[in-house]
Amino acid sequence: MSEKINQKIAPTVAEPPEGVSGQGFFATSIEKAVGLARKNSLWPLPFATSCCGIEFMATMASHYDLARFGSERLSFSPRQSDLLMVMGTVAKKMGPVLREIYIQMAEPKWVIAVGACAASGGIFDTYSVLQGIDRVIPVDVYVPGCPPRPEQIIDGIIKIQELAGNESLRRRHSKEYEDLMKQYNME
Ligand code: SF4
Repeated sequence: MSEKINQKIAPTVAEPPEGVSGQGFFATSIEKAVGLARKNSLWPLPFATSCCGIEFMATMASHYDLARFGSERLSFSPRQSDLLMVMGTVAKKMGPVLREIYIQMAEPKWVIAVGACAASGGIFDTYSVLQGIDRVIPVDVYVPGCPPRPEQIIDGIIKIQELAGNESLRRRHSKEYEDLMKQYNME
């Protein structure tokens, strides 16, 4: 026990992006520097409607500790978050609410569909359940499982980190992105 207490824990340092380094300096592009900041400070908005939300609670708790990824600051306000995490069964009646939340989030923003229900309606192939949230909002990463384990949710967040870290600063103004938004009747 005392050995454990005396053990020094090395701080986790984010990997630097590609660049040029020498004695006392490091240079990289502004795009990569912004990407580094974005990927290590994602602020999730948990939209949890059922059981998958419980797995997310475990992901946030001390054992899995999402703070290691810079994402411990949850936001229940769409205007102060950049990662929408949809976890659980989404009824068709909730579709417009989810869409409104997505629209209120500031750019750049990313979306994870956590679990089979959010991704495809899961086992609830019924008249009242949305058969996948990508019917109302664009999704960046799908996490499979019913429910997915916290490791899988973390894997999804790492995938989002890769997207955020490598995203071009121009992407949100590109024709491709405009077309994607038009598909969802969003400007
Ligand atoms: S995917 Fe499974 S665990 Fe997750 S909300 Fe649906 S039924 Fe519940």
